[in-house]
Amino acid sequence: SFAIGIDIGGTKIAAGFVDEQGKVLAGTSIKTDLSVSPSEMLDRVAAEIRRLAADNGLELSQATGVGVGAPGPLNTVTGRLTCPPNLKSWWDYPVVDELRSRLQLPVKMENDATAATLAEKWVGAAQDSDNFVFITVSTGIGAGIYLHGKLITGASGNAGDAGFMIVHPTGDVLNNEPSGYWEHIASGTAIARQASELLGRQVTSKEAFQLAADGHPAISELVQRVYTYIGMGCVSLVNLLDPAKIVIGGGVSQVGEPLFSAVRDYVSKHALNPGGRETIIVPAQLQQDAGLIGAAALVHCAY
Ligand code: ADP
Repeated sequence: SFAIGIDIGGTKIAAGFVDEQGKVLAGTSIKTDLSVSPSEMLDRVAAEIRRLAADNGLELSQATGVGVGAPGPLNTVTGRLTCPPNLKSWWDYPVVDELRSRLQLPVKMENDATAATLAEKWVGAAQDSDNFVFITVSTGIGAGIYLHGKLITGASGNAGDAGFMIVHPTGDVLNNEPSGYWEHIASGTAIARQASELLGRQVTSKEAFQLAADGHPAISELVQRVYTYIGMGCVSLVNLLDPAKIVIGGGVSQVGEPLFSAVRDYVSKHALNPGGRETIIVPAQLQQDAGLIGAAALVHCAY
């Protein structure tokens, strides 16, 4: 049997078919066109899914269901996207009902980071863990919480919105901005912004990491400080939730070992360690198809 996964994002919407083993049977993605209504966008998504099914000899009515990963803030009780900043025209749009009527299948929706968390449990880096936190450091920072063998989703599906934990009292350390949110300081977007300010030209976060690796003094210092802030957020999550494992994914985690060793170092120094607690910190295993597999996991996995 197979499930339909749909991953809604501000730049693209990915959709595909995922089997019971977490294998993507077929997938596609379309550009998120913010100049058309969400209703028109979902018409396009449904048409793409029908085309993909036909091309791959799959009968849509045979799908177990549809899983949707979407950016928060959302409301999984009402099935609506409440107010995601990158999808303004979708605010309050009833995604779940609208997809159900277009595809004639049961539809489940969770926050995209929550869905990715379930994917890491299902076929990724947390298969062996019943107590872990997943963090994605990407355009923003998102997280998902999996404790006592269950996904923790909260009252409205917004649990794990760790990007909005306050890690600095007066905000951006370089600019003294009023919001000290974790993602405002330590996301890919934040790294690019701070590096651009330092160098007086547009710098991507990828380039910033390259400059740091090449020993650029100011950028190295910035990158080290960002690693420290990533570690700070992890310390709060460790102390609050006592996970056995933290799984870190997202574009910025591609930097690899320099980030992981700095974060491990900070956490081992600063997280309380009652009774010999040890939280291991590992890279996510799913990258490319994480959104799609996470969305399908909502259908295939009990949570
Ligand atoms: P999204 O936020 O759309 O899910 P990603 O998870 O790819 O996308 O995150 C995008 C962010 O990660 C951008 O800020 C980008 O510059 C950064 N990024 C992507 N790849 C790398 C890399 N190899 N090294 C460092 N930063 C990266």
